Amino acid sequence: MTEQKKPEPLKGVKGMNDTFAPASGHWEWLEAQMRELLRLYGYRNVRTPIVEPTALFVRGIGEVTDIVEKEMYTFTDKLNGDELALRPEITAGLVRAVIEHNALYDGPLRMWSIGPVFRHERPQKGRYRQFHQLDVEAMGFAGPDVDAELILLSRALWQRLGLKVGEDIHLELNSLGEPAERAAHRAALIAYLEQHQELLDEDARRRLHTNPLRVLDTKNPAMQALVEAAPKLLDFLGPESLAHLNAVRAALDTAGLAYAINPRLVRGLDYYNRTVFEWVTPHLGSQATVCGGGRYDGLIAQLGGKGAPAVGFGLGMERLLLLLEALNLLPGEDAPDAYAVLPDAAALPQVLPVLEALRAAGLAVQMHAGGGSMKSQFKRANGSGARYALVFGGDELARGEVAIKPLRDEGAAQFSRALGQAAQWASELRTA
Ligand code: ATP
Ligand code: MG
Repeated sequence: MTEQKKPEPLKGVKGMNDTFAPASGHWEWLEAQMRELLRLYGYRNVRTPIVEPTALFVRGIGEVTDIVEKEMYTFTDKLNGDELALRPEITAGLVRAVIEHNALYDGPLRMWSIGPVFRHERPQKGRYRQFHQLDVEAMGFAGPDVDAELILLSRALWQRLGLKVGEDIHLELNSLGEPAERAAHRAALIAYLEQHQELLDEDARRRLHTNPLRVLDTKNPAMQALVEAAPKLLDFLGPESLAHLNAVRAALDTAGLAYAINPRLVRGLDYYNRTVFEWVTPHLGSQATVCGGGRYDGLIAQLGGKGAPAVGFGLGMERLLLLLEALNLLPGEDAPDAYAVLPDAAALPQVLPVLEALRAAGLAVQMHAGGGSMKSQFKRANGSGARYALVFGGDELARGEVAIKPLRDEGAAQFSRALGQAAQWASELRTA
């Protein structure tokens, strides 16, 4: 007889996470908070594919960016040769969809989407290869009012989650101006960087002539002083860009939201103009940016649509959850209301309809399955976190009743309820 070899278990992809309870409950809670807040601001859900043509991101995000140069998961569809990519961010796909469905025809749109995105980065705490973004976008609005609305919406989210704004998380703001202003700044920046060739790292030298603004986005500590003293785009803004920035600032001031102007804030994507912002936390080490966004008035036209202004932000769900965890702001575990103890498996046909009636009345009931002694069943009942054990013992069932034992309240007396009136006492247990 040949010996069967036990197969090696397969492992998940590096940098991509599995999430079980209770952590999955934190995700559900956070998403529910976000959905409710977005509804209050009039933003509506959009769902687009996770796979898009590679060309969409190359054109949308820009060829000389970290994402397109080295982080994107691309592949050739074996069946038809199409060049495809797992989306590294959500905005480009939304813009593609809006253009394809002519969705701006009836007026501007406020939208949000949530889901996985993929970037081939070095995995570490707060940096993964599959992560999740909440993406919020307003398309068809040109004014600074909507920039301010989005920033205030994000502040409202932090407040709702219990974060102290200005302390646990703070706002940085900048303006990237318009293409002509950027061109003038770019020329000055190239001249400056050329004078300091010897201080540039390999990435910076390569980007010096292709995308010098990106050099300012470097994470290389050795280049910080150089970048600090570089010509600032803010000094090249024309009157309209300045007026736009000042209007955003005035709105934030009125709303009592403090921010820091960060002239080096350029964001990792090429498509931004005018307003850019990031929400940064001191609690997550070098994965400090929880949320970032800005205006991208040129992107819709650049991707082949009828030109329309737009502004939005992307929020890293994992980073936000890490931050909430670090500050002890996550909700407690979601326990069932009751745990059904079944001393006699033969009674199941009599018990099941009662459990169904309780659940139909909104009571969360976890049923003991798999038999076992009363002692072991009570151990499970306690471990479940339920507030009550419903004991369907032989004597009780013979009387048409169930014994209800409080599990969390020391000294509270056990009581009985009629099996046939489950709908009535379900609410008693739910609100108790
Ligand atoms: P970073 O500078 O940290 O790489 P980024 O500028 O590349 O961030 P964006 O493209 O603006 O990030 O994405 C929006 C948000 O998504 C970020 O602010 C961050 O919270 C989150 N994020 C980005 N990359 C990752 C990742 N690899 N893993 C987890 N979250 C991420
Ligand atoms: Mg990045």
